[in-house]
Amino acid sequence: MSAAGRDHEDASLSGGVRASVDRVRLDEREERVVADEHYDVAIIGSGAGGGTLAWKLAPSGLRILLLERGDYLPRERDNWDTEAVFLRGKYTTTEKWVDARGDEFTPEQNYYVGGNTKFYGAALFRLRPQDFGEITHHGGISPAWPLGYADFEPWYAEAERVYCVHGAAGEDPTDGPRSSGYPYPPLVHEPRIQRLSDDLTKLGFNPSHLPIGVMLDQDDEGNPVHTSRCVRCDRVDGFPCLVDGKADAQTVCVDPALEQPNVELKTNVRVDRLETDPSGRQVTAIVATLGDGSTARFSADAVVVSCGALNSALLLLRSANDAHPNGLANRSDQVGRNYMRHNNVALMALSREPNPTRFQKTLALNEWYLKGEDWDYPWGGIQMLGKSDGEMVRSKAPHWLTWGAKLAPASSLDLVAHHGVDFWLSSEDLPRPENRVTIEKDQTVRLSLEPTNTEGLKRLRHKFDSMLSDIGMHEGSHERKLYLHEAMDISATAHQAGTVRFGRDPATSVLDTDCKAHDVDNLYVVDSAFFPSIGAVNPTLTIIANALRVGSTIAERLTA
Ligand SMILES: Cc1cc2nc3c(=O)[nH]c(=O)nc-3n(C[C@H](O)[C@H](O)[C@H](O)COP(=O)(O)OP(=O)(O)OC[C@H]3O[C@@H](n4cnc5c(N)ncnc54)[C@H](O)[C@@H]3O)c2cc1C
Ligand code: SF4
Repeated sequence: MSAAGRDHEDASLSGGVRASVDRVRLDEREERVVADEHYDVAIIGSGAGGGTLAWKLAPSGLRILLLERGDYLPRERDNWDTEAVFLRGKYTTTEKWVDARGDEFTPEQNYYVGGNTKFYGAALFRLRPQDFGEITHHGGISPAWPLGYADFEPWYAEAERVYCVHGAAGEDPTDGPRSSGYPYPPLVHEPRIQRLSDDLTKLGFNPSHLPIGVMLDQDDEGNPVHTSRCVRCDRVDGFPCLVDGKADAQTVCVDPALEQPNVELKTNVRVDRLETDPSGRQVTAIVATLGDGSTARFSADAVVVSCGALNSALLLLRSANDAHPNGLANRSDQVGRNYMRHNNVALMALSREPNPTRFQKTLALNEWYLKGEDWDYPWGGIQMLGKSDGEMVRSKAPHWLTWGAKLAPASSLDLVAHHGVDFWLSSEDLPRPENRVTIEKDQTVRLSLEPTNTEGLKRLRHKFDSMLSDIGMHEGSHERKLYLHEAMDISATAHQAGTVRFGRDPATSVLDTDCKAHDVDNLYVVDSAFFPSIGAVNPTLTIIANALRVGSTIAERLTA
């Protein structure tokens, strides 16, 4: 970690207001202020948004502070252990939130350097060009973004380079135009998935290679060459990578950024609120709790919030003051609203042939992404998931399977897993102002969610089920409830987006098109909160591309 930035008396810094060293009172207890430092840029949160931004800004020479509430994820055998990761939730937060009815749940959030990308499946899609425009769905309107695909295209290209995306241009008919090919060749399908691809092609569909961010150098059969960081195992989806072969935000952005002397990371620093000057136009202090319970204050010319869509909205709401009585930058009353997270379902089908695939996430099918069959509205997309193992199947086996297992040898569920082929069906949900995160008077976090636009996913699943016998599977698919918590359950927050949206009109959006708050001159948000709509593909490449875009704007502004 760089020691740069520790000398807060550095006279070369200009602009921002320095926080004074003082003592603050919290919950009737006096806390010692242990830091009072000024930076050019402070980034709160080191996931896809914040980590990427730190990487983008690192060469600028600006003094950059990255604040992360978590620590480095421990590297240990449990990283790849199904029981520890999926059944025990060893690495997931234990905090409790409540839903609209007041029922408690634990959101699926992981607080570590690299954020949720430590656990993500690294499927790194671009949004389709149509996703940036208005789309009429069965359940309502997906609104247009203030910028189009062409504005994001160069940043998508850079994002794919930084996150080592393997893919094949020109296969997926819904792909937008590209200024360059994928930086890495597509991952070679293993034999069972190649057969699936061939079967889908015979049916007249257009299966494509799933764009995926791993550091795999493969031979012609797709096996890792001896220098490859990724060893092509069956743990890619939902597990952290023990050998740092996955392109997560820590590995490809935070670690390289910290090699620069002007970038500093502080871990175990939970930011509690942001303070402003009396006009409310400048954030003057970042107030945080350290691991030992003490309080620290930091300041910066530009303050960038990137805590994940839900926690970013919460931080702004917790930062209400006289100038911002409803929460920081919340003149529009949009902070916390329009929460989206995709309508999706994880399914396991049973292959007639065994499925010994290790790395299953190599295929996607976007046939009905823009329009369903014999329907006027979009359905969504299908992609492969990481491979189920016997332990996952045993823990959430449907009734008929557990019943069968009582009669059959104990290994029967392993056999089921050996024939299992895992799919992910994802459809767009729509921004609804009432779907929102709020803070109660007693500081309890409430997440209110009414599902939207669910018919497309139902039809997509029906179509999927109807195809199974033609693609070498037994009839009937089964929900993999363990993946991303229960399907559609409120705790499934993995694809959270939309709570601090960007737009041109300050009356209906929180951020301008540079992702700077309309109401505050030095406050930016670069995580998934800025999305006005979510599309139906995985969100993270768009978060990364946007962080690169905003990073270039911030660098230009501060170095001008
Ligand atoms: C199991 C799983 C699989 C997934 N698979 C995919 C996939 O295949 N493809 C895809 O596109 N997406 C996937 N996702 C989603 C992806 O992980 C997220 O979209 C992405 O990580 C969001 O980036 P972010 O920067 O918005 O937030 P995060 O990555 O969540 O980063 C936020 C960071 O802020 C920190 N933080 C929060 N609050 C504070 C605070 N108050 N003070 C300081 N720090 C704070 C957190 O600890 C965290 O490090 C998956 C997610 C999960 C959980
Ligand atoms: S497949 Fe590669 S990136 Fe994924 S967990 Fe295994 S080694 Fe890591």
